[in-house]
Amino acid sequence: MSDLPQLCDVLIVGGGPAGLAAAVRLRALGIGSVHVLERESETGGIPRHCAHSPYGLREFRRPMFGPAFARRLTAAAEAAGASLHRQVTVTALHPGGRVSLSTPDGMAEIDARAVLLATGVRESPRAVRLIGGTKPGGVLNTGALQGLVHLDGLKPFSRPLILGTELVSFSALLTCRQAGMRPVAMVEPNDRMTAQAPLRAAPLVFGVPLWLNTDLVAIHGADRVEGVTLATGSTTREVEVDGVVLTGRFRPENALLRASHLAVDPGTLGPEVDQYGRCSDPAYFAAGNLLRAVETAGWCWAEGRAVAGAIAADLAGRLPPRAAAQAVSVEGAGLAWVLPQRIAPAGPPPALPRLQARAARDLGGDLLLGGRRHRLATRPERRMTFDLPAVEDTVIRLEGC
Ligand SMILES: Cc1cc2nc3c(=O)[nH]c(=O)nc-3n(C[C@H](O)[C@H](O)[C@H](O)COP(=O)(O)OP(=O)(O)OC[C@H]3O[C@@H](n4cnc5c(N)ncnc54)[C@H](O)[C@@H]3O)c2cc1C
Repeated sequence: MSDLPQLCDVLIVGGGPAGLAAAVRLRALGIGSVHVLERESETGGIPRHCAHSPYGLREFRRPMFGPAFARRLTAAAEAAGASLHRQVTVTALHPGGRVSLSTPDGMAEIDARAVLLATGVRESPRAVRLIGGTKPGGVLNTGALQGLVHLDGLKPFSRPLILGTELVSFSALLTCRQAGMRPVAMVEPNDRMTAQAPLRAAPLVFGVPLWLNTDLVAIHGADRVEGVTLATGSTTREVEVDGVVLTGRFRPENALLRASHLAVDPGTLGPEVDQYGRCSDPAYFAAGNLLRAVETAGWCWAEGRAVAGAIAADLAGRLPPRAAAQAVSVEGAGLAWVLPQRIAPAGPPPALPRLQARAARDLGGDLLLGGRRHRLATRPERRMTFDLPAVEDTVIRLEGC
């Protein structure tokens, strides 16, 4: 614990792609003391256990496997002069940039001129998916499965069921195949896969049946999973499996936020930020997938760099006041969320240069913003971006949606 500071310029919570990219940029911009706190024993974030390509295209101009990408990000942050602290968990955020933390040596507090929150996302656990049955071992999210397989060299089951067809569901499928497991099926409650082409062919290529319009209603087993009940409409059936992988349905890793004084956006479930990534307490900033579920590692890396630029501008007194930021409001139903949620008066170039949004359901109609009309034909999982509105024009109107 002795190398942890009591005071610093910038404290970064989370050593994933967003946090590490921010650390590099802050040091390059001349910020003196930049400390990254990471609860795991290694920095690198989610890519550490994604043993597949393609990571690194935007950042290092070549395809890399996740673990190599994570190591490269870590080396870059260290070479830039940032201090990385592993096995340090931030446990509370206090007004003005003071955080509490837990380390292997005990509890501590640090005061920072600015704090960057970059704690990423996680997949929804079983509890919030309302799946019935018993509670045997062998029910995992993709992240936990990949940690066991790629970090611990374990094979938790042989014939699992994979629930979901998001991008990450195929990452789970790949991990199963790499570890010699043979998934019994991929199951999707909707009438089409969530992932877009070309991944639609993946179940066929891997020889794994894809069951659409199918819900996982119960998991059975005493100590270990022995089977599941699936439902298609009113018809149910029992299927023998020895594990279940619950994939996707990402949510920002917001436990710290929810317990703090910072405003949380009910749509994204991440912090409410302005176009500089600045939170309701202007000592705090946020970047990466904590802002919303879910973007790629490359996107989060770029976002970390951009918000680092805004933090440096803030420390130099060049950001417009957060108190003058106006809320973005939506007239009409159909959007799940927008980001940023507030627009500050014009100042240095924004860290979030586009207004990001997602549909709450399959959506057609028109979106009016900043005097422009955009024709919508989109689905909930698709990225939508629009020109950032000016502070005096922050109303989004939906027509015919
Ligand atoms: C299972 C899974 C698989 C994915 N697969 C892909 C993929 O194949 N390709 C892709 O582009 N994207 C993938 N993603 C999306 C992924 O979130 C991004 O790739 C990228 O890792 C996001 O970067 P980040 O820095 O925002 O967050 P993360 O990479 O999640 O990093 C956040 C870090 O914060 C740390 N942390 C959290 N809370 C605290 C705390 N209180 N104190 C200290 N440290 C803390 C975490 O341990 C973690 O290391 C996947 C996501 C998941 C969950």
